[in-house]
Amino acid sequence: MREEASLRKDIPLLVREYLLNVLYPARCPVCDRPAPFGTDICPDCLMRLPVIGTRRCAKCGKPVEDFEKYCEDCAKNPPVYTCGLGIFLYDEQMKRTMALLKYKGRREYGAVLGRLVYERARGELLRWRPQIIVPVPIHPERKKARGYNQAEEIARPIAALSGIRLSPELLVRRERTGPMKKLSRAERFSNMRNAIAVRPGAFVPDRVLVVDDIYTTGATVNAAAGALRDAGARQIYFLSVCIGAGFMVTY
Ligand SMILES: [Zn+2]
Ligand SMILES: [Zn+2]
Repeated sequence: MREEASLRKDIPLLVREYLLNVLYPARCPVCDRPAPFGTDICPDCLMRLPVIGTRRCAKCGKPVEDFEKYCEDCAKNPPVYTCGLGIFLYDEQMKRTMALLKYKGRREYGAVLGRLVYERARGELLRWRPQIIVPVPIHPERKKARGYNQAEEIARPIAALSGIRLSPELLVRRERTGPMKKLSRAERFSNMRNAIAVRPGAFVPDRVLVVDDIYTTGATVNAAAGALRDAGARQIYFLSVCIGAGFMVTY
């Protein structure tokens, strides 16, 4: 037994990594098949991801027409947060990817998606200079059933790569909110308003970055931003993997 352990220790790290990669190749979050050796996303799949262009709402980052500064939603109901953006459109492909991460136990996809978000939002992170990164919390029961919070999985590589501290315990989900898919915009906002709170006694710095998987109506990010603002944050930003533009997504 001892001999076997020491033998295993003698195998150089690179070889061990190679063997692990052969035995358990990383899966691609887009096609859900083993990714080419040494990668965690197929180059072709990466190319096909629906990156949102530069014509974005100055508040929520949703795609807008050339002449518009804000999208209709933000013009009508200014969000609580300072500004933010989602990187990819929530199209059919991204719906499959996010469903694999959330409902099929593909926890490791969070790390790949978080890295992609970081790579595309480096400029914003340098401008915003958040002091902490806070993933949107899910209800403890849901986290227990799923085994993880997908927003935390996405936020972790963003924190590691940017050197900004991750605060996964700062926000808490107070009450269980049912699936929001079938609710109207107004219902979503009232449903969420009291569902997210800052952990009692926790310190909240001036500049906070909230990370979530999908931004649709903004109800969740706004609820998080409201709680953070009430606890002392002055600038609240958000990054999400996906953003659903109203015209593309049926709520
Ligand atoms: Zn692929
Ligand atoms: Zn907007």
